[in-house]
Amino acid sequence: MSTDTRPRVLILGSSFAGLTTARYIHQTLGDRIHLTVVDPNPYLIFVPNLPMEVFADHDPLVTMHMGTVRFHDKDGTAFVNAEAIEIDLDSKRVTIRPTDRAGSAPELLRYDMLVIATGSRLAYDRIDGFAEHGDAVSSGHYGNKLRRKLFHDYKGGPVAIGSARFHQGLKDKPSWLPEAAAACEGPPLELALTMAHWLEHRGLGDAHKITLFTPAEKIAEDAGDAIVGEFLQMATEMGFGYLNNTQDIKAISADGIEFESGASVEAEIKIVLPDWVPHQFLTGLPISDERGFILTDTHMRNPTHPEVFAVGDAAALTVPKLGSLGHQQAEIVADQIAVQVGLTDEAAARDPYKPAILCFGDMGGHKGFYIHSDTWFGGDTSVFEMGYAPYAMKMAFKEMYFRTGGKPVSWGMPFTEFTMDHGLAHV
Ligand SMILES: Cc1cc2nc3c(=O)[nH]c(=O)nc-3n(C[C@H](O)[C@H](O)[C@H](O)COP(=O)(O)OP(=O)(O)OC[C@H]3O[C@@H](n4cnc5c(N)ncnc54)[C@H](O)[C@@H]3O)c2cc1C
Repeated sequence: MSTDTRPRVLILGSSFAGLTTARYIHQTLGDRIHLTVVDPNPYLIFVPNLPMEVFADHDPLVTMHMGTVRFHDKDGTAFVNAEAIEIDLDSKRVTIRPTDRAGSAPELLRYDMLVIATGSRLAYDRIDGFAEHGDAVSSGHYGNKLRRKLFHDYKGGPVAIGSARFHQGLKDKPSWLPEAAAACEGPPLELALTMAHWLEHRGLGDAHKITLFTPAEKIAEDAGDAIVGEFLQMATEMGFGYLNNTQDIKAISADGIEFESGASVEAEIKIVLPDWVPHQFLTGLPISDERGFILTDTHMRNPTHPEVFAVGDAAALTVPKLGSLGHQQAEIVADQIAVQVGLTDEAAARDPYKPAILCFGDMGGHKGFYIHSDTWFGGDTSVFEMGYAPYAMKMAFKEMYFRTGGKPVSWGMPFTEFTMDHGLAHV
């Protein structure tokens, strides 16, 4: 029996959301709580910059791999190399299975406060024909598979880039949060522009070879009408093909993609963003919506189990599924836990969650784009800029993330927004 009487905070997941939350909790509460983080992987792969590495012919498992345990260790946080397999909300225990050695026996971990930051399954396994004929950039494995294809096997045929249908949970969805048809459509914009540059650079063609597709009325609808309109005008002038309202991907074959809408596209390379699906162990819980995303208020706290928080892609409020939204939520949760243990009062805690799309995308040729918009959520910020500075910022953010272990300096985000929103992006 442990003699440690400090409140026990347990975080499930140690990627963008979980690692950042752990580091802010440590910064805010120090050793006033006992903090444990559980993840089957003792590392994260820096997914946002993975497409750039693929087009540069770098192995992302080498360049985008960041060990996380040393950062937890430095903060005095216990890291458990295991996957959560069950949550018992009544007894406040999580069943975990260690993953560092096959055959390990399940164990129980007790908590007073639980933070769920397990992200989502990217459900390529639900797309017929994906394993044989599909391409992706969301993991080291898929990134390397596409890299080999591009640099060794590609015959110069047409390219299709887009998303499968996202199935958002609608239970208790607040009215300010729209329903999204695609989970995350910054990457398709970025991939299309980078691919066009890659084709030109290698003398294989240009944007005319590429078709962008979306299950929605408009691609990247969460960026807001003004930005999408500007992007589509530029894409049309560059020669991209565009298919909207595809509804979902029905099947991928060697020759192309068939959509639920009845449309189809011919393609040798088919880069797909799939449905974001909650992990099985979270479905059917009283804290989850009908799909398995964790329900929270805007302090990222579950209304019926206020000792449970959710951060990042696992949270029902995180739509679209963007790492930058999880970052804001991580800071909020650290403050709420400080309130819970009586360290600060509610008045001193950060403002509630107020989403805005903040996205740096690569365009190839050391150029990038910057999107800062909250019009989809009812706000009036709408900034879309292109130039060398957004590319430099995207690279710098990754460097800072690796160096600080997921805890960029406090002025980093506001400084970035301010400088980009006030003209630096043109540089
Ligand atoms: C190609 C691509 C490009 C992107 N580009 C951008 C971008 O430029 N900007 C941006 O903001 N966002 C971007 N995103 C989205 C961003 O990657 C996600 O929003 C972000 O990774 C979510 O972080 P997370 O920690 O919530 O989930 P994840 O990154 O999915 O991490 C979940 C963690 O939980 C762990 N886990 C899973 N199951 C369990 C379990 N049972 N028990 C314990 N731990 C578990 C996993 O091992 C993992 O470490 C991009 C996504 C893709 C696919």
